[in-house]
Amino acid sequence: MPREQSEPPTGEVSAQRGAIDTHTHLNHPRLVRRLAQVLARARLAGVGEMIVVGYDLPSSELAVELAEHHRELWAAVGVHPHDAGGIDQDTFGRLRDLARSEAVVAIGETGFDFHRDLSPRESQVAAVQSHLALAWELDLPVILHCRAAQETLLDIVSECRGKPSGGTSKLVWHCFDGTGEHAARALDLGMALGLGGMLTYEKSEGLRRVAAELPADRILLETDCPYLTPQPRRGRDNEPANLAIIAECAARLRGESKHQVEENTSQNARRILRLGKK
Ligand SMILES: [Zn+2]
Repeated sequence: MPREQSEPPTGEVSAQRGAIDTHTHLNHPRLVRRLAQVLARARLAGVGEMIVVGYDLPSSELAVELAEHHRELWAAVGVHPHDAGGIDQDTFGRLRDLARSEAVVAIGETGFDFHRDLSPRESQVAAVQSHLALAWELDLPVILHCRAAQETLLDIVSECRGKPSGGTSKLVWHCFDGTGEHAARALDLGMALGLGGMLTYEKSEGLRRVAAELPADRILLETDCPYLTPQPRRGRDNEPANLAIIAECAARLRGESKHQVEENTSQNARRILRLGKK
């Protein structure tokens, strides 16, 4: 695949290099087959860079391939908690190899999903511990998924951090949907919190209150596309262009301009995920 020459259009967007969607699954079969259009719409919506997040080995391989061929894409490699039961030592050998690519900026997504419980909880715990160990070995940030398991996530992360082998890599709690208390504990552990489409849902009153108060240097924007499409586009596949809706919602809650939110969260993403130039 030739490297796509896709400088952002001139004007305000190129001056600030655009907003950053820190959690996409452009490697998902529904998005990858129309990637050119999806990326074009992202560009028009002012999204300058995107992280493509792996959820198993094939999707991690594809994330790296996409990021190596598109200058606005970066990759994260990992195995989603849904598949934690199938992980073995070979899996981590392969993830370690993939992570050597300069396009890889994080390990993940790993984490806990006690809502669907598609893998045994012990396997999910072991998988998170192994992902953290790999990230610390390679000095890479970690992207964490968490559904109905906030306490477990916070307990396991603080336990791992407390060990002599515990590293200091940055941790990103993607699609944060916890309470103010969860947020406070996560911030104490040095975590950054990803805000996504959930922020726009009617039922998310509590989350909106929390998001309004989060420290500006710890928030990231994300779509988690093709999932979690923000209002009013629910029912369709999500894509990075919808990041603008999330930025607008966050801006309203925090009493900031959309531009401020995009600029600030982009700076956070560049610092936390150490995005350079490819
Ligand atoms: Zn995800």
